[in-house]
Amino acid sequence: MIRKTRLYTPGPTPLLPAAQFAMAAADIHHRTPEFRALFQKVLAQLKVFVGTKNDVLLLASSGTGAMEASVSNLTSPGDRVLVLTAGKFGERWVDLTRAFGCQVDVVKAPYGQTFDLAEVSKALKPEHRAVYMQATETSTAVRHDVEGVAKLVKEAGALLVVDGITGLGTTHFDVDGWGIDILIGGSQKAVMIPPGLAYLSVSERAWAAMETAKNPRYYFDLRKERKNAAKAESAYTPSVALVAGLGAALDYIAGQAGGDLEKGREALVDNAQVNAAATRAGLVALGFTLFAPGSPAAAATAVAVPEGMDSSAVVKALKTRFAAVIANGQGEMKGKIFRIAHLGFFDYLDTVALLGAMEHIAKHTLGLKVEYGQGVAAAQAVYAKAVVSGQ
Ligand SMILES: *Cc1c(COP(=O)(O)O)cnc(C)c1O
Repeated sequence: MIRKTRLYTPGPTPLLPAAQFAMAAADIHHRTPEFRALFQKVLAQLKVFVGTKNDVLLLASSGTGAMEASVSNLTSPGDRVLVLTAGKFGERWVDLTRAFGCQVDVVKAPYGQTFDLAEVSKALKPEHRAVYMQATETSTAVRHDVEGVAKLVKEAGALLVVDGITGLGTTHFDVDGWGIDILIGGSQKAVMIPPGLAYLSVSERAWAAMETAKNPRYYFDLRKERKNAAKAESAYTPSVALVAGLGAALDYIAGQAGGDLEKGREALVDNAQVNAAATRAGLVALGFTLFAPGSPAAAATAVAVPEGMDSSAVVKALKTRFAAVIANGQGEMKGKIFRIAHLGFFDYLDTVALLGAMEHIAKHTLGLKVEYGQGVAAAQAVYAKAVVSGQ
């Protein structure tokens, strides 16, 4: 039988065909009026997509490059910072801030959970120069309360840096209202194009902080990128094809709401949220246990397999039987959980198809007692309710 390869991973995510065409046609030189027009257009679109009046910059790197930039550009060796961590990506903040010589305080939540705001409040000190967190911790599929944390950070007077790499396009943000100083996104997540681009919004407070930050930086010198962006250029050779693809993807997202990118972005977030809710309902109906039931992300859903079972069996069976690629757990969560993504170019039929496949896997690979249609029906009920209430 024909089996189409389908990605259900939280990065890379499925590619938008219109973006693929744009990338294939992107043989233009980057120091030309043609590229400058494209770059300027994409930077302006990104501001709307991120939802901010702050500068938004593009870097030729994966998301971690922008994470590193927001440490090297904002801090000096010896600075005290606070990291909120609840998984592998939070741990990356700890490693990064330590690598740049910061004194790192940590608020930790167990895998599968989010932070207690009272604990964050207690840990925040006037000496903290910056607070680093994720909007959604992709390794555990948990969503954090960025708005709640932002309020506390504002009171404390620290800078707030948010890794929104899977939060953007799956969560509603009020970047300027909440006071997020840096918000980071990555190309292989909600914006439907391949890996290789990072983007980040930078507030005036963050620009001011860079004037006194002494950590070394060169390739990821944000001030240099800002100067160049003002001339519609990048400091170094940009990832021209990805920029062209990103422009096409943002056009597509705007096209979902009659050309209004802000509304299109909200529709994309709602799409992820409905598909995530439908997936959760379907999996629970099949007898699976959600790994993050308290604060589930819309970017991805994580499922804990029963004790004594290996989640790798589910990942493998979906791949070999259906060519559907889902993600295993990362690090010590490997074998214990599996993750299904909803961010970017996923639709409701993708969700229903995967749940249909999961019913086969549950029955034949895991030997669970399920009836065909049980998971799909639960998802359909969620979808019907969302459509009736206006999605
Ligand atoms: C994917 C991801 C990253 C970035 O990883 P890269 O491999 O550098 O693109 C960072 N944070 C989160 C939450 C992610 O999901």
